[in-house]
Amino acid sequence: MREYLTTERIDPEKRLVVERTKDFGEIYEVFDRDDAATQSDRCIQCGDPFCLNKCPLHNYIPQWLKSVAEKDLEFAFKLSNEPSPFPEVMGRVCPHDRLCEGDCTLNDGHGAITIGSVETHITEAGFKAGYKPEFPGITTDKKVAVIGSGPAGLSVATYLLRSGIAVTMYERSDRAGGLLTYGIPNFKLDKKVVERRIKLLEEAGMKLVLNCEVGRDIDFEEIANENDAMFIGVGATKAKSAGIAGENASNVYAAMDYLTNIQRKNFKLSYEKKFDFKDLNVLVIGGGDTAMDCLRTAKREGAKSVTCLYRRDEKNMPGSKKEYKNAMEEGVDFTFFVSPKEIILNEDGQAVAVELMKTTLGAKDESGRQRMEEVKGSEHRINADVIIMSLGFDPAVPSFLAENGIETNSWGGIIIDEETHETSTSGIYAGGDCFRGADLVVTAAYDGREAARSITNALLK
Ligand SMILES: Cc1cc2nc3c(=O)[nH]c(=O)nc-3n(C[C@H](O)[C@H](O)[C@H](O)COP(=O)(O)OP(=O)(O)OC[C@H]3O[C@@H](n4cnc5c(N)ncnc54)[C@H](O)[C@@H]3O)c2cc1C
Ligand code: SF4
Repeated sequence: MREYLTTERIDPEKRLVVERTKDFGEIYEVFDRDDAATQSDRCIQCGDPFCLNKCPLHNYIPQWLKSVAEKDLEFAFKLSNEPSPFPEVMGRVCPHDRLCEGDCTLNDGHGAITIGSVETHITEAGFKAGYKPEFPGITTDKKVAVIGSGPAGLSVATYLLRSGIAVTMYERSDRAGGLLTYGIPNFKLDKKVVERRIKLLEEAGMKLVLNCEVGRDIDFEEIANENDAMFIGVGATKAKSAGIAGENASNVYAAMDYLTNIQRKNFKLSYEKKFDFKDLNVLVIGGGDTAMDCLRTAKREGAKSVTCLYRRDEKNMPGSKKEYKNAMEEGVDFTFFVSPKEIILNEDGQAVAVELMKTTLGAKDESGRQRMEEVKGSEHRINADVIIMSLGFDPAVPSFLAENGIETNSWGGIIIDEETHETSTSGIYAGGDCFRGADLVVTAAYDGREAARSITNALLK
């Protein structure tokens, strides 16, 4: 260990831009055994590891880095798969620079350990070597219903099944995985990786009911009566509106509608042909990770030009720096310091341009972030054939919540006891984006794990 003075940080190989923009394959290779070991050997095994404290799951990072450095894959696989329900997913999609790697001691000049990439290597190599996470089978008479099959739902199911509790998962979509399947594009997360985990849960005894929206296709009360506890993980994918004229035009699209349709196309399922943007000029309004995903998807779909409009600058973009860099490499144009005021329509009601005002950063607000100010008289237009709005998400608030005494806050988030993850109705738990607002895969996974711990305690102790 402690080889950081002689060994540089390297990231896994990235596919060449000219190749990767022709398809939706993942852009990063997975470390091989030797690279993973050499990179892990850089770790200085801090006494008080900041990386572990910054990881929402408190993964045993220094311990599995040591095992990988010593080429003990079996132990690394066990360590990595214990506190995390699907480490190979988080290794791919976590914003590492803001989480574990951001707080790595070596980030101070030497280059952080490539924690996420080693994490992906461990489980991928482990699966290849034939290791599997262990499940005991259904060993209790307790039953739990899970509504929603995103990372929060998959995580709670994983830990309940590990305790021998029967799980039935209800999902309104035709495939499980939530935003892992129909949000995050393939080039960041291959769908086979998600399908493999779902299959493992089904093999462990989980019953998956697809195409079944709770509150529409089946009553919440019916499920509640049949189970000993419930977990709600219905996410937050209601698009926020810009509140500007013209945004309801037929060629102005919500980011999720676009990404879901292109994912359906990639699955070779039916999709809406209006989302074929080949040879079109595409504008995406917003600067977060979802906006980057739309921009890079449009690029792969053969758009003539792809431009991101964002009201601040690159330093203030809310998403991952890595994804911004990847989008830049792939030929996305960025226009910073602009605020949309109106979508301009032609006589047929089609959007043809966005009216913008230039912006500048002013004094800091209470949170320390510089306020955005519009520059008077700076109105100008950018033409477009299609416009994608990517301004964030709110929870949708299904009516079964209020009907069953489950309280929500002013923006629709489900209120829970943050120790137990129990809602205001006894025996009903919640977590993920429907509690936090749009957040991260890793925090949804944490909520699922902690809710499972409380449910198990309540049912079995
Ligand atoms: C485009 C995009 C890219 C992202 N990229 C990243 C990234 O790179 N890294 C990262 O960490 N995070 C990323 N995120 C955020 C991350 O995907 C979410 O924070 C996470 O998926 C939330 O998990 P969840 O289980 O709470 O909800 P979801 O993943 O939204 O899953 C909720 C599930 O519940 C189902 N459902 C809803 N209502 C019902 C009902 N009544 N009955 C049955 N089923 C129902 C939905 O169909 C859905 O499958 C991204 C988000 C988006 C939109
Ligand atoms: S789950 Fe995310 S934050 Fe935690 S170690 Fe893995 S990549 Fe880092």
